[in-house]
Amino acid sequence: MVKSLWMKFFLLLVAVSLVALSAAFLLRELMVKDFREYLEGEREDRVYWVTAALESAYETASGWERQRVIDDTVWALMLGFETRLRDAGGAVVVDTESALETLSPLVKKRVISISEFSTRDRSGDFLPYPLFLGGQEIGRLEVKFLKPRKESLFISRSNRLLLLTLIVLGGFAIFLSVVSSRKLTNPIKRLTEAVTSISEGNLKSRVVMPGKGELNRLADAFNRMAQTLELQESLRKKLTSNVAHELRTPISAIRGELEGMIDGLIPMDGEHVQSLYAEIGRLMTLLEGIEELSQAEASGLTLRKKSIHLEPFLKNIVERFGKIFRDKDVVLELRCEGELTVSADPDRLSQILINLLSNALKASERAGKVSVIAVRKGPEAVITVADEGKGIKQEDLPFIFERFYRTAGGGLGLGLTIVKELAEAHGGRVSVRSEYGKGSAFNVSLPR
Ligand code: ADP
Repeated sequence: MVKSLWMKFFLLLVAVSLVALSAAFLLRELMVKDFREYLEGEREDRVYWVTAALESAYETASGWERQRVIDDTVWALMLGFETRLRDAGGAVVVDTESALETLSPLVKKRVISISEFSTRDRSGDFLPYPLFLGGQEIGRLEVKFLKPRKESLFISRSNRLLLLTLIVLGGFAIFLSVVSSRKLTNPIKRLTEAVTSISEGNLKSRVVMPGKGELNRLADAFNRMAQTLELQESLRKKLTSNVAHELRTPISAIRGELEGMIDGLIPMDGEHVQSLYAEIGRLMTLLEGIEELSQAEASGLTLRKKSIHLEPFLKNIVERFGKIFRDKDVVLELRCEGELTVSADPDRLSQILINLLSNALKASERAGKVSVIAVRKGPEAVITVADEGKGIKQEDLPFIFERFYRTAGGGLGLGLTIVKELAEAHGGRVSVRSEYGKGSAFNVSLPR
């Protein structure tokens, strides 16, 4: 069993080349056969010319006149056969040898050389051709075909050509097979190496294979997959270290306080137990935030999308938030284009808006204003939550969507990360415009 792909390709290409060469061989055999048949037919025709000439000579002379038939015998020799003419009684009237004797030495030499007749090597059988005149047998012409030079020339030349073709084309086919099977299997080999390297934990492995073919596309897809894996892995590492870092502070505080109590340095009174309780409350909030984030990250798989009419949907949310905005004396207004719908999971969309609204409220001063605006933009609906609050510093802007990134104390730094994850899970995106001291506007674009 041949295991390597390279060998399989190679053998396949060699097999194809062999089939092609065998076809050439077969074709040549057929051509030679055809050529032989043609020559045989031609020879038969020539014998009939000679027999017709002899019969006519017999008729003219009313019998076999040696001198008359000598010419025909020499002519037959030049046509490529040795003859022996016998009369009705079986006696030899003339044969090639004796006909040649009647020629001058010069003419004889030429005739012999034209016909390739050998006076030494005379093996082979004579074939009898009866001669008739007026329905009566007048004699017999015995014919022996001489080896036609043209035929042997043709065959030996075609043999040489075939051998040359076999060597040149066969060699070329093997060379091509080696080159092309290597060319075909090399990218697969490189991909396999890269996949092995990734499976061994080297997530930086990539395959460089520019081009537009299937294998190039496979390499592209592989590189994208490797990139995603690398990103996910780095996010996972970052999340783990972020979470450990975030948990350390409240746990250290609780531990310090409890140690103080054990050592009798901090009284175990209601006030300190209350502070411990508050600390644990913060820990719980953090864990809930992390849970919420991991749910948001996995939400792409669990979204229950519906067609949502934005106007009533947003109105409901704005009404729910109305009270806490009024408590801080912040105006919350809604503007929504009519008949605007999006395809989204209502719970997740609420979560997006709640996070943005609570950030906007946190950022707003007393007597400020927050607007929720929904408009149609091509194939998308864009929901904007804009405030006139403190705004975000330019240097903070690129990081606000990162996990645990916060510019001011209090929050967990997870709200916007969750917004971004949820928007992307819906096939949408989120962007921000902000001017420090003047306000911010967060745009969530979702497919309609
Ligand atoms: P947090 O839980 O701290 O609110 P977020 O991820 O929601 O975390 O926000 C990240 C940071 O971006 C916050 O620290 C906050 O200061 C800033 N931010 C978010 N929204 C606004 C806004 N509307 N105006 C000003 N700053 C904002």
